[in-house]
Amino acid sequence: MFDHVHDLVRMAFPGHDLLRCPQVGVTDRIWIELGKRGECMCCRGIVDVGAKKTQAESDVHPVEGEANDEPAATNMVRRFLVELLNRHMDCELSPYGTLTGVRPVKIVHRLLDRGWEDTAILDHLFRKYLVKLDKARLLLEVARANRPFLPVRIEAPRLLSVYIGIPFCSSRCHYCSFPGNRVRDYEVDVSPYISALLVEMEMMAEAITENGWGIQSVYLGGGTPTILSQSHLEMIFKVLHDRFISGCTSEITVEAGRPDSVTKQGLNRLREMGVNRICINPQTMEDETLKLIGRQHDSRMVVEAAEWARQAGIEILNMDLILGLPGENLRNFQNTARRVMELEPDNITLHTLASKRGSQMFMTQKPGRVQSGGGEEAPGLVWLDSIFRAHDYRPYYLYRQKYMQANLENTGYERGGRPCIYNIQMIEERQTIIGMGGGAGSKFVRPGDWSLTSFHNPQNPQRYVGAVHQLISRKVDKLRALN
Ligand code: SF4
Repeated sequence: MFDHVHDLVRMAFPGHDLLRCPQVGVTDRIWIELGKRGECMCCRGIVDVGAKKTQAESDVHPVEGEANDEPAATNMVRRFLVELLNRHMDCELSPYGTLTGVRPVKIVHRLLDRGWEDTAILDHLFRKYLVKLDKARLLLEVARANRPFLPVRIEAPRLLSVYIGIPFCSSRCHYCSFPGNRVRDYEVDVSPYISALLVEMEMMAEAITENGWGIQSVYLGGGTPTILSQSHLEMIFKVLHDRFISGCTSEITVEAGRPDSVTKQGLNRLREMGVNRICINPQTMEDETLKLIGRQHDSRMVVEAAEWARQAGIEILNMDLILGLPGENLRNFQNTARRVMELEPDNITLHTLASKRGSQMFMTQKPGRVQSGGGEEAPGLVWLDSIFRAHDYRPYYLYRQKYMQANLENTGYERGGRPCIYNIQMIEERQTIIGMGGGAGSKFVRPGDWSLTSFHNPQNPQRYVGAVHQLISRKVDKLRALN
């Protein structure tokens, strides 16, 4: 039972150690039992945490179709436990009910594959997972928006996307759990890494071509790719153009991330090298908050970088925002949204702050109970969603993380019919993604049943450099196995 519910308990009590069996000296306990009463299944549970004890007992029932696709008992217990935890905490733990996974929209795609109508999908999300109607509608809207970009048929053209990881940053933002490799000595830290990356790119390109695949999208992410020297960027783009990019490549993204990492000339050169989508991420336009979270730029530099990107002629501008940064309230969110929309980005990615292990913020936090709607994140999200929609932005991809404020979501918005193809393929997992470089993840997707195997390159650049030949052959084997 522990394995089936610990994610829900962790959602309620983030940062606490969870133990499977009662231990001497541990006073906080959650006890749950599934049994039978006559013909009916019955759940009993006690949450005895803090100074409060909450208990419940009720009959539980499978929802229609449930027994066929996964063990019904697990879902019944999860629904029971969420309701028990909600009662214990006097609030709603999550508007996503029992769903704790990263990719809830995939569930909707599976139902759409089976021909389900919208009303049946909304009803199913509520009855099976206790998802609130507004979130169920959002999931359905996102699925409908990104479905035309998915390879929904087995005979779809053999396209994949590639990710190039540049796991270096000039400093670490306080909310970031990325095992950031701060560049201290560029020659020592970065140059051997780029040599290994170029080897991996060449060899993976050979396997991709030999297996008859085309590249739909390229994403250079990090870290901060724009801290690379001009000559290193040129080397990467030379291999991309010689070996990967072809007529079927519609999107080349560079994650510039921090505005302090770009120059006017650098952006012009990226455009000349074929980049047609760039991410310049303010996170917030409040200068005080930017200092507090360890960013090394102010809002003026965001405006400048966005203007340079436009002047360079890069077609699609994405800007990332984070809701729930320390000390911020609805007024700050509104100021940020207004100032960002003045820059007219084509894509806005709205994150809800997640308290991630490994980040400086997480280290200084005390274990506590979930901040469930008590903060201003939930109303802030509603306000931002409505203001984005009023300016013709529509949600097109969505994912969730552990320990998000108020258990909300991250949503990508687009306007003008220009969603990020790579983000859609990466989140919905219906296209093979070849990740190259330190920390890059690859997904090998089998068309038809959309089953996948994942493979991750080592995060640490030195380990990556040491293992590069071995990991190339493992990925080539996985790619060949798709044929
Ligand atoms: S720039 Fe991005 S990857 Fe680098 S430390 Fe900041 S949030 Fe993390």
